[in-house]
Amino acid sequence: MCPVVHRGVNFTGRAFPPRAPGMPTLTDKLHTSLVYLKGVGPAKAELLSGELGLFRYSDLLTFMPFRYVDRTQIQQVRDLREDMQTVQLRGRIKGFSMVGPPRSRRLVAQLEDDTGSVELIWFKGASYMERYLKRDATYTVFGKPNVYRGKFTLPHPDMELGEGPAHDARRMQPVYPSTEKLKARGLDSKGLERLVQQLLAELSPADLPEILPGEMRVQFKLIGRERALRDIHFPPDEHALQGARRRLKFEEFLLIQLGLLLNKSALDRQVRGYIFERIDGVFEKFYRDHLGFELTEAQKRVLREIRKDTRTGMQMNRLLQGDVGSGKTIVALMAMLMAVDNGFQAAIMAPTEILAQQHMLSITELVDGLPVLPGLLTGSVKGKSRKDLLSALEAGYVNLLIGTHALIEDKVVFNNLGLVVIDEQHRFGVAQRARLWAKNTQPPHVLVMTATPIPRTLAMTLYGDLDTSVIDELPPGRKPIQTVHRKDPERLAVFGFLRKQLQEGRQVYVVYPLIEESETMDYKDLMDGYESVVRAFPEYRISIVHGRQKPADKDHEMREFVRGNTRIMVATTVIEVGVNVPNASVMVVESAERFGLAQLHQLRGRVGRGADQSFCILMTADKLSNDARVRIRTMCETTDGFKISEVDMRLRGPGDLAGTRQSGLEDLKIADLVHDREILEEARSAALALVEKDPQLRLSVHAALANHLVREERLKGDWSRIS
Ligand code: ADP
Ligand code: MG
Repeated sequence: MCPVVHRGVNFTGRAFPPRAPGMPTLTDKLHTSLVYLKGVGPAKAELLSGELGLFRYSDLLTFMPFRYVDRTQIQQVRDLREDMQTVQLRGRIKGFSMVGPPRSRRLVAQLEDDTGSVELIWFKGASYMERYLKRDATYTVFGKPNVYRGKFTLPHPDMELGEGPAHDARRMQPVYPSTEKLKARGLDSKGLERLVQQLLAELSPADLPEILPGEMRVQFKLIGRERALRDIHFPPDEHALQGARRRLKFEEFLLIQLGLLLNKSALDRQVRGYIFERIDGVFEKFYRDHLGFELTEAQKRVLREIRKDTRTGMQMNRLLQGDVGSGKTIVALMAMLMAVDNGFQAAIMAPTEILAQQHMLSITELVDGLPVLPGLLTGSVKGKSRKDLLSALEAGYVNLLIGTHALIEDKVVFNNLGLVVIDEQHRFGVAQRARLWAKNTQPPHVLVMTATPIPRTLAMTLYGDLDTSVIDELPPGRKPIQTVHRKDPERLAVFGFLRKQLQEGRQVYVVYPLIEESETMDYKDLMDGYESVVRAFPEYRISIVHGRQKPADKDHEMREFVRGNTRIMVATTVIEVGVNVPNASVMVVESAERFGLAQLHQLRGRVGRGADQSFCILMTADKLSNDARVRIRTMCETTDGFKISEVDMRLRGPGDLAGTRQSGLEDLKIADLVHDREILEEARSAALALVEKDPQLRLSVHAALANHLVREERLKGDWSRIS
């Protein structure tokens, strides 16, 4: 396995990264360009790299069959079913003849075993087959069964004369993905199979060394590496295939986890972190006098974890996962107060301007009377006020900065930044996170928060190098949001329901989809919707918020709703994340079938924030696609963000869920985050134990593994000692 290679790079290998000096010679062979494999040559090598991204021996070695045709079993005629993909039969040819008019002449033969008979049919090459077939001889035939006029037929079956195990019979046949271009050059699945066969013949045991410690293989019941790599292509039977799959999936997960954990532990050794010793100033005062409620047990636990992290002298990198409304903001604020108590500044970065403003509003209120000076820095803070803010920040007067990504700009200089909180982290890239590190002489502590729960398997793969905290408990007194699905003809009843809620003093959101591709139509829908809401509720003031408004207008409308001056908010998904209006109790999502699960969950999270019973109404068209139906049903059945994210991952796949291609995911050649959760858990625990025991891979039992990690460029920083 070499690092990700890009399509279209010249097969001569010029684009390959140079081989590091001292790379072990044992596996050099796997770095050989495929052009040198017997049966390939320049033209085919170019096709293989361009079409399939296969450059070297190692790429072909890990080019996995996507399924297998099981030819180890012989079925009987009476077992035939219409839904069988393939069938292998053995029997005698009782007779055959050409039938039909000259234009559609075909050869039909009767194959009979002890349980019945089927027809074998050839439309093409019929006269050739007519000469080849022998009456009363025994054949092993293989093909896809069809039903024609109530009888089973096998069109164009593979034929093997005799009873013995012929070429293809009696084995699992790999099926490889191919392309039209490749097929035209003889590299269909069969052609690729021949290349893999050739490759495996050229490789000796020394080319495929074991990299896992024996103890680990015993503990997790893993077959040897060479066996697995051979059997994954040519498994003698189903059992061997399972063994090979398990071994290679485990190895794949293990290498990713080891990369994450070893790099993290190397970083921990190198990077010092600020020590927050005191909490007896603003933190304590806030806890005693300003907090209007009791923290949940989960919130307390997370605060203890943060407190522990910030006293070790190492830099904290912690991911805080908590469902919408679980109360992450208060935890973030209290962590920031720890920094302030120790003479540091703290910052919180929100993904949108609205959200930053809202944090500013609520935090200013919460810390009122404490020696904490919050400042707000967003794109729309300009001119003199921006200048004043920046100098107050540099001087250290402002000790709690709230902002959007504007705060990572180079011009923003802190006096002594000790902690950064990143809210709704999925909206920020890794690069943006890295820029925060440069904001002080030592990198500040980092707390990353996300309200988009992601499945545990994905979290382990994407954020395996972060310590994680979970708030798995909602503040007390919340009633679970009731979610219902309604279709357009029921709109009158829905409006009636809204009126009742409004009469009880509640506020209501009505959200419309907006996607770039159909922006114009979507805006029209939004405006039409707004008109109809205005007509239906003349007695109430209504806000509208969307992306085409000037920021100032947007803010105004938003503020009016937050203050309760307007009672209905008609909006696009700009309100999706973070907005907190506890008096809002109904969320109507229009064209809900067009939203993804994560988005629906976020939107629903805007209600249910107060003590009142809240409702989410998902409006859809009459006809729904299968996926849309699953999404709507899931939303109606559960409010658990983790369960929802599992369904989301099953529907969309892990890559789309993560939003971007990030470390680890693109490396998965055989393992799968949706189906291989148990193996991932095992690999994770094996990796943790290994790193605990040998964080620098100094033990000789880990030498082969260390070499492999270096060769695959999974270790960052200086590991030159290895290899
Ligand atoms: P999120 O995790 O979605 O960011 P917030 O921090 O916005 O959630 O909290 C949602 C609401 O719950 C806020 O109004 C907040 O003041 C309130 N809240 C947070 N923690 C508690 C608690 N322990 N008890 C009662 N209310 C709480
Ligand atoms: Mg929040």
